[in-house]
Amino acid sequence: MQFHLDGYRFGDPSLTDPSAHATAARAPDRLPSEVDVLIVGCGPAGLTLAAQLAAFPEIKTAIVDQKYGPLQLGQADGVACRTMEMFQAFGFREEVEREAYWVNETTFWRPDPKDASRIVRQGRVQDVEDGLSDYPHVILNQARVHEFYLEKMRKSPNRLEPNYGRRLVHLDIDAAKSADRAAYPITASFERGDVYQGGFGQPETMRAKFVVGCDGARSVVRQALGRSLHGDAANQAWGVMDVLAVTTFPDIRMKSLIQSAGEGSIVLIPREGGYLVRIYVELDKLKAHERITSKNITIDRLIAAAQRIFHPYTLDVKEVAWWSCYEIGQRLTDKFDDVPAHDLSTRLPRAFIAGDACHTHSPKAGQGMNVSMQDTFNLGWKLAAVLRGQAKHELLHTYSAERQAIAKTLIDFDREWAAMLSAPLKSASNPKGVEPAEVQKYFVKHGHYTAGTATKYSPSTLTGKADHQHLANGFEIGTRFHSAPVIRLADAKPQRLGDTLLADGRWRLIAFADQQDQTAPSSPLRALCDFLYKSERSPIRRFTPDGADVDAVFDVRFVLQQAYRDLPLGALPEAVLPGKGRYGLRDYEKVFCPDLKSGRDIFEMRGIDRKRGALLIVRPDQYVAHVLPLDGYGELTKFFDTFMIEAK
Ligand code: FAD
Repeated sequence: MQFHLDGYRFGDPSLTDPSAHATAARAPDRLPSEVDVLIVGCGPAGLTLAAQLAAFPEIKTAIVDQKYGPLQLGQADGVACRTMEMFQAFGFREEVEREAYWVNETTFWRPDPKDASRIVRQGRVQDVEDGLSDYPHVILNQARVHEFYLEKMRKSPNRLEPNYGRRLVHLDIDAAKSADRAAYPITASFERGDVYQGGFGQPETMRAKFVVGCDGARSVVRQALGRSLHGDAANQAWGVMDVLAVTTFPDIRMKSLIQSAGEGSIVLIPREGGYLVRIYVELDKLKAHERITSKNITIDRLIAAAQRIFHPYTLDVKEVAWWSCYEIGQRLTDKFDDVPAHDLSTRLPRAFIAGDACHTHSPKAGQGMNVSMQDTFNLGWKLAAVLRGQAKHELLHTYSAERQAIAKTLIDFDREWAAMLSAPLKSASNPKGVEPAEVQKYFVKHGHYTAGTATKYSPSTLTGKADHQHLANGFEIGTRFHSAPVIRLADAKPQRLGDTLLADGRWRLIAFADQQDQTAPSSPLRALCDFLYKSERSPIRRFTPDGADVDAVFDVRFVLQQAYRDLPLGALPEAVLPGKGRYGLRDYEKVFCPDLKSGRDIFEMRGIDRKRGALLIVRPDQYVAHVLPLDGYGELTKFFDTFMIEAK
């Protein structure tokens, strides 16, 4: 973490200076009449977006929810490895890691072939394959995840707080003004609820440049866009309970998938704190148009079902912290913004939907919360770039294009996985059923999906073609930056290179040097520095506003091949230690070497061409946008030319 750049400050360094928006007189809990971005819904999708936008002092954001305050308990709890990488970028990964349950292994249970009324363990597997991510797959109450975001928002320059007790009832979008940068084409109407009196009534309105519907599966924003969720009806019912229990089941602290012969199946998720456990019990399929409320499900019925599935093990529930019946199907919207597919060339997006508002998943693969957060991590930096005048408005078309395709893949996976878990098991009387071993195999094979690392964006304005992929095979274009260990040259600090990719809206250019002596006057690294910092064609020169720090828009990092003790820092090109801030203090945290002591050489691990090196373009949401040669200046220039706006 870097601080004191513009002068020594005491106190909590994560508390940034307040922006004009934060200090402008704003009566507590009054809705602003005009904002740049209105976010509807304080679930994981809305809060990820709010935390991202709150980082930009010049962007005025409001986030509203019909609830009267933050979520207290329940709902989702699975946090995938990829999400932990994103939490690292937001700065609260360590707290989550400390508090959460770590899913190290998953066990699989099946009916005992000798006595089908009993369950036996069929196998156990490592939950996440080695090297897939720096961070574990963890389990933490969704409400705690919300709290980390709320804390981040409170400490941000905009000191952003949600406005609770506001139900969006109507949304008006003036499509004729979609291309007018200064316009506020969105008018949102709310009913205000009073936490003490109950009920909603008093009307309020707000105008916005953009609106993002993160308002869950029954999204009003989605309806206002005339879109609907298509797919399987919500006919799969699950009972879920968070309980404190005494049990003889030996894997109670392991994530377990339990399939019984005739009593249904359980997904068991141990929870944070060491004692709590979540038990999902699959209930009967619902008939078309049947709602779960009509099934009269009680917690006692749920516990009794779980006890039957656990047989011969006992389950004595002492306390129920939360329980719910959750009906869900795999459903998807065909577009995630307000621009009809046939109007792409004439209209620009002003309204978006994200998370459960545009896709719903079964809880079996733990996708819902994770995919929702990744949606708005994708959208947040794009909105910020457009509002800050860095990028063309057209950039926002890429949100729906990228995320709808990803959601489709994940929904297809979820559907297959959910069907597999619900299918009758193979037995003498049902020879066509699923073999329990197949379930385990499928789980291992698709580990990348559940870890959240399978996302790959197709070639587009933001994702380059694979012409130079061979220069860094382990950094696959279109996938998230796969971190690896390095040593920071200036202070010999071992760290993960991915930890430098913060949620601050900046692009990263990561130069992996070739084998040559980089202190020589003719080295390719020096030539790259000359281009980046001196050439008129350089994206840094063209797109960084006058007076801003040299790394305000593009954060350039260098990774050299030599051992850190063999490299004289002072003999490297001066530009690798750029001067910044009002004193021109040098930034010593831009240059890294491989971690040769641990034997984990990033050049080997990620297949980087040692002779030629490579230049990576990494997006603000941590995805690899392009791999280029170190001297690929023309392609570098062209890449940013297509969507960025020259700084004045
Ligand atoms: P949500 O978390 O649904 O957030 C939407 C927010 O928008 C809510 O806070 C809501 O109050 C607000 N909102 C809605 N309409 C309006 C409006 N008109 N005006 C203002 N605000 C509005 N996933 C699992 O994996 N396991 C589970 O056990 C599980 N249980 C769940 C139980 C419930 C009751 C719900 C609703 C969801 C559950 N999920 C579960 C799903 C998981 O929580 C979601 O996938 C995830 O929260 C999606 O995040 P989101 O931000 O898109 O939407």
